[in-house]
This record gives sequence, C-alpha cells and structure tokens, in this order.
Amino acid sequence: MRGNAFEAKVKADGGTELLRLLADRLGGQEPPPVPGEVSVPDLSAAGPEGRTARTALALREATAAGAWALLDHPLLALEVAGSPAYLEPDAVVVRPDGRWTVVEIKSFPMIDGSADASKVGAAARQAAVYVLALERVAARTEGAEVGHQVLLVCPKDFSNLPTASVVDVRKQLSVTRRQLTRLTRIEDIADTLPEGTTFDLDRCSGAQLTSAVDAVTAAYAPECLSACELAFHCRSRARERGAVEALGRSVRGELGALTTVTAVLSAAHGDTGDPDDPTVAALRRAATLRAEALAGADPAFAERTMAEQTVADRAVANGADRPGTEG
Ligand code: SF4
Repeated sequence: MRGNAFEAKVKADGGTELLRLLADRLGGQEPPPVPGEVSVPDLSAAGPEGRTARTALALREATAAGAWALLDHPLLALEVAGSPAYLEPDAVVVRPDGRWTVVEIKSFPMIDGSADASKVGAAARQAAVYVLALERVAARTEGAEVGHQVLLVCPKDFSNLPTASVVDVRKQLSVTRRQLTRLTRIEDIADTLPEGTTFDLDRCSGAQLTSAVDAVTAAYAPECLSACELAFHCRSRARERGAVEALGRSVRGELGALTTVTAVLSAAHGDTGDPDDPTVAALRRAATLRAEALAGADPAFAERTMAEQTVADRAVANGADRPGTEG
C-alpha cells in the first residue's frame, strides 16, 4: 500500500514531479518540460497483445511528435526461450530528442542520497530487462534511442517525498543478453513431453496437472524456496529421488558423480565407488571417523570428527532442508 501510494504521488499532476526529477538528474540539451505540455497517452487495450501494440504505437507517435511524453505502466514484450514474456515498467519517458528512459519507482528509502545496494542491484537487473524489451520497439521506430541509464525514484530519507538517482544498467544488460541466448527454447522442452500434456487449468484436472508438472525435468535447489511457487513440489520430488541437489548447490558440486543420497551412503560404507576417487575416499574416511566417534571409544575422536567436518556431514549441516535419511 505504501509503495502504491508513493508511486501515485510521484506520477501525480501528469508526472510533473517525475519529469522534474528526470530533467534534473538526466539533463540534456532540451529545456525541462513545462507542466501541462507533457502528453500522457492512454495505453488501455484488450489483452496483453493489444496493450503491447498500443504501447508501441504510443512510443512511435511520441517520438515522431518530438515532445515530452510519459507512458504510465506501458506493456512490453520480450522473447524468452522462444515465447513472449510481458513486462510492465512503472513508466517510460520519451524526450523531445527521441531518447526513451525507463523509470523504476521503489518504496525503499534513499538515505543521504544512497539506497540499500542489494535493492538497487535488484532494481537495476529488473530495469535492464525493460531496456532490452524497449530496444526491440526502438529498432522499428525512426529516431528512437533507448537510454542505458535508468531513473530510480525512491522516498527521500524517512519522508514520503520523492528523490531520484541515475543507475547505469549496461553491465546488467550484457549479462541478461547472454543469459537469454543460453536458455533452452520452450519448443525443445515441449518436444520431450508426452502428447497432450497441458498446464491449462481450464482443460485439466488436478491429477492431470500434477502429472504434467512431473513430466518436466526440474533442478531443485534450496534457493528455490525463496523464489518459486513450485518450490515445495520440486523439493518433495527431489527428496523422493534422494537427489543431493536438495542439500544445496555447493554440496552437489563437492559430491561429483554421486548424485543421490543412497549412492553417497553406499560409497561411504564401502559398498560401491572407486576407492581412488577423492570424493569416495573422503566419504569413507568420514564414515570411519563417525563410526568411531559414535562408538564412544575415544572422546578425542569425537572432537576430531566434528572439527574435520567431512563432506557427508557438511551436506547435512549445510542443507536448509534435511533429506530425512540418516547421515
Ligand atoms: S522450484 Fe521452481 S525454480 Fe526450482 S526447480 Fe522447481 S520449478 Fe524450477
């Protein structure tokens, strides 16, 4: 609610305060806009395709007019893994010289001119995706240029007054471009699914949806818990498989070719595994030390065992979610 109220305040009066901040921080050759002379086009249309087309038209018209324009919540499309993803920046400003600037309005404070670095970094990554999507539209618009500096607007100190700073997103842009080119195309993933698989809630039952979700390979890691709605589902599937990914990516990396908890325990107990493999050797030493410590033969052993923190023990110690198995 605070964020929405702050955004409404920043955009009030046709964006007068927002454009003043933009002209102040990103001043160009042209004079700052005069209140009332900024066009705020209506971007409403039916469906995401309609809104995207309406936004592109408004951007073209504003650029051709050579005047200030404020696009409030435009809708942009970006191809991600072969499918369109729709993105909605807080605002895009078109300047008389044809430059387009992304504006991000956040409710975290800017104290003494600087804000929390991690939050600014997240806002920069988000804005970089908007810039990428805008560049697709600008490529088809004569005289348009997308700024690689975005305007971040936040509450000033502990007040509700807006202040702004300029964030250069060139680094985030190159990272995002690289990541997008490396994504597996959705068509390639869909080709591996059984005929008739659908995720459409209107066309399948709960059981069908569950089996459809199960048909897609997932790479669960504890980090998913804070980022994805499917985290509990994927975690229980990973636990059922005994996948070591559920213990964390660093543990997964240390266990090399051993991909399940069963394989790790088997190697540790000497039932399987190449003794010359350093991971297997470390696991066996861990198992020996642990057995000796638990037997209580020598308290010094128990102390050593704890100090050495072997791979298997660290797996459990580090795992945000326990696999529910011994060891
Ligand atoms: S929880 Fe989400 S991000 Fe993680 S593996 Fe599952 S679907 Fe992928």
